[in-house]
This record gives sequence, structure tokens and C-alpha cells, in this order.
Amino acid sequence: MGVKPDNSSVSASRTPDARPVSLDAQELWTAIHAHLSEILRREQVRTWFDRVAALEFDGQTLSLAVPTEFHRTWILENYQRALDVSSSFVRGSVVSIRLLIDPEKASLGAAPPVRVETETTDAAASPAPTPTVSSSTPTSDAGRRGIASQAPARSSAPLARGMAVPCSFNPTYTFENFVVGPCNRFAFAGAMGVAENPARAYNPLFLHGSVGLGKTHLLQAIGQELLLRRPETQILYLSCETFTNHFIAALEKGSLEEFRRRYREVDVLVVDDIHFLANKERTQEEFFHTFNTLFQDQKQLVLSSDSPAKEIPSLQERLVSRFKWGLEAEIEKPCLETRLAILQRKARTMGLALPDEVAHFLAERITNNIRELEGAINRVVGFSALQKTPVSLELVRRAMPELEAERTMIVRFEDVAGVVARRHHVKIQDLQSRRRNQSIAFPRQIAMFLTRRHTKHSLEEIGAYYGGRDHSTVLYGIEKIESLIAKDSIARDTVNALSDEITRLTQRPQ
Ligand code: ADP
Ligand code: MG
Repeated sequence: MGVKPDNSSVSASRTPDARPVSLDAQELWTAIHAHLSEILRREQVRTWFDRVAALEFDGQTLSLAVPTEFHRTWILENYQRALDVSSSFVRGSVVSIRLLIDPEKASLGAAPPVRVETETTDAAASPAPTPTVSSSTPTSDAGRRGIASQAPARSSAPLARGMAVPCSFNPTYTFENFVVGPCNRFAFAGAMGVAENPARAYNPLFLHGSVGLGKTHLLQAIGQELLLRRPETQILYLSCETFTNHFIAALEKGSLEEFRRRYREVDVLVVDDIHFLANKERTQEEFFHTFNTLFQDQKQLVLSSDSPAKEIPSLQERLVSRFKWGLEAEIEKPCLETRLAILQRKARTMGLALPDEVAHFLAERITNNIRELEGAINRVVGFSALQKTPVSLELVRRAMPELEAERTMIVRFEDVAGVVARRHHVKIQDLQSRRRNQSIAFPRQIAMFLTRRHTKHSLEEIGAYYGGRDHSTVLYGIEKIESLIAKDSIARDTVNALSDEITRLTQRPQ
């Protein structure tokens, strides 16, 4: 972790004395600031980092001056990751950062002086941002994305409703930054639908999928998009664990009335990791009533879970059925192509040109979890900066020797075609023929879909293998299977079983 979350000398709110700013600190901060400018939006950098000045760098910790306590808390809670990424990009490893409150020095900033808004004086008195509960009244131009549009709520409306806490969305978790592929297209479309048409499109939206596949990202993207489109929306975004803790605290304090008001008077309730309700009878009961009230009032509910509703242990049947009232969408593991696209996207935001062979090396080995993919690219960037060497396959092999030994899936056309042909009692040659009768066309479409999922072949290549078909025919077939498995759980299970068989068959060392 790069930013020190707290430190008593920090809250003393003054910088150490009048020591001159070390040149190293200045250079380092200028470089980090420049990198932040690459990965964050201009508004974000202007609001939060232009009024931050370098004080000292002792080789490990960079001390920076910020104008207010509020500024400090906001950076700690929202930009830690950005600072880690930028500092490791610049220095080769994450630099620990200490934030000290010093309005005077902070005003010198890292960049040319900027107009300072009046936030400094009253901001310190504002409530500290809370990481889990959010309601927001964006103050800045609604056309801009990201944190700038969720600047601390000062409007009296949310205050009056007892929710005077600003949004704590991760500014990078937007729809724009979400790479869409066959594994998440359906969930993405559902999320967009909700953001465009809350309480009209799908209610509730229930996203499920295993860890690190983008559920939280999509949930927060919905929140951020909604605020952008309708700044007045009252959104409450929190984890189910927080909901549970609030509920227990309210029970203990005898403040259930207030608790209920808080949760039942929002326009949109977004609860992450709802599987946390497993085996918690009373919280389930409470959530049931929260759900009903909001639903009846035509308010939007968005939920995520690491498993389908029916598989959450001891989840009341009436909740299971409610969770299915709207749209239940699964996020599956990303196919190679999506993993490659995610890597390339991340690399671009870090200002890195990722050679194709490096992207393939990583994407072929890290297959289950997008968070791990991100971790890998951060390590590569850090290692490359440290070694002062450009990113190459050789460098990556040295940076992550454990990946070298990773068992890799190399799926060939014949592997997929073989599995599908066997299951459907047809010959591979039939799948590759021009024949169009349903008993062959359908398995062929499944085979195309699975080839797309398991290999990096393009639509053209797939079409060429399956009887010289063109790219639009392949796309049509793949989309047909996608929509079929989105609607029909038996079809989904069948296709997934084939997919598992391909994986088992083809796991072999490279
Ligand atoms: P989950 O909530 O499902 O465990 P997260 O939403 O926390 O997963 O995602 C893990 C990381 O992967 C996040 O940093 C997120 O931004 C990134 N990520 C996940 N899916 C995508 C995607 N489709 N495109 C870009 N980044 C993604
Ligand atoms: Mg999550």
C-alpha cells in the first residue's frame, strides 16, 4: 500500500518546519503528477492534485502538502490506487506517500498555479467521506465524468435526509473503461439499461459471477452514469456487509426507524456482494422489506453476488424469487480475446505500449480473474521502470518467473470441433461442410461460439475453418448461441459443460 492511511503527525496538520523542499521530492512529484494526468481525467487532477506540493523524499516516503484535511481524506480514499500506479510507473516500485496539511505550501502545487476555488475554507469542516455509503449531489458540470462530478455533497437535500456523505465510487469504474466481450456483454447491456432507464428497464438487476470478473466495476459504473445523467438521483451504494453491520448496529441502538428511512427513501439502492446474506436470517428479513418498499415505490435495485440467487446458502425462497423478477445476468470468465483487450486497455491508460507477444504471454496464462491480469500489468510496468528496460517478453519472464511454469491452454480448432461433434453425434467434416440442415447448423454454431471463447482466432479464421463462411455468418451464429444461453439455463449448462470438457482436454504445458 502506497499511501499511509493515517499518522498522528499528519493530523497535527502542520508540515515539519521550514526545511527547503528537496529537489528529488520536487522531481518525483512532478513526474508522478504528470503520470496522474495521463491516467485520470483533467478535472480530477485539477481538483485534487494541482494543489498538492512536494515537501520531502527520504528515499522511501514522499511527503506532500495538501490544503485541507478534507482534501487529504478524499485523496486517501479515492486515489490511493492511482498514486500507487503512477509512483510505481515513475520509480519502478510503489512509493509510500504521506499527506500533510499545509495550505500555504500546497498552493504552490506541482503544476502551474491554478485558480483556487473557495473549497479550502469550509471544506475542512465537511464530514469525512465514508467509503461504503454514498449519496451524492454532484456539484460540477454534469458533462464530465468521474470524481469531479461527485465532488463532496454540500447540497442541503441529502443532508436533510441524513445521508451527507459523498460518493465514493472508484473513478475508473466507468462504462467507458469496461471492456465488453462475450463473457460480460449481457451483464453490460443490463447495466447500461438500468443506468439509462432506472426502475424501468430491469428491476432488480442481479449480476452474478465469480470473483474479480467486474461485478463491482459494473455496479459503480451504473452509479456514476446515473449521476452523470440525472445528478439529482439519490443513490445508495454499499456492500451487503455494510448493510448487515448497519442493521445490527441499528438493532442494538434501537434506531431501526432511522435505519429504515435511510434505506427506503433512496431512488436507487445498489448492494454489492449480496451473497453475504447467506445464513443471516434477520438481515434477510430486513432486506426483504427494504426490497419490497423500494420495489413498490418503483425505485431501482441493483445487486451483485458471487453465485446465482438460488445457490446462496439458506437464502429465503421469497428473496430468491424476487431477485429473479428483473434481469439476472451472469458475468463469465473472459475469453482470451477479452483478456487481451483488457490488458491492452490497461496498458494504454498507463501510457505503455504493450508488445503483442507480451500481452499474449500474460493473457494465455492468467485466465480466471481480471484483477490478477491488472496486477500482472502493474508488476510488469514496475519492473520495467526499476530495470530501466522497455517491456519485452524476456523482461516479463524475469519479472514473473512463476508464470513460465503455468500450465497453459492451447486450444486448437480440432479440439473444439471434436468435443462438439462427439456430443452432437456428427462428424467434424459435417461441421466443416456447407450443409445447412438444423442437425448440423446448430452444433456448428455452438462450435463457432466455443472456438471464439477458447481461442484467439478471428471471426474470419473461424469462418474459414467451418466451411469457408464469412465473418457475418460466424457472428450471427455466435450471437444466436449467446442469446440462447442468456435466456435458457439448460442451454447454458450444456454449452458450459462442453466448454469445461474443452478446458480439461486441452490443459497441457506449452
Ligand atoms: P468483482 O466485483 O467481480 O470481484 P471487480 O469489479 O472488482 O470484480 O473487478 C476486478 C478488477 O478488474 C477491477 O479493477 C476492474 O476494473 C477490472 N475489470 C473487471 N472486468 C473488467 C472489464 N470488462 N474491463 C476492464 N476492467 C475490468
Ligand atoms: Mg466486487
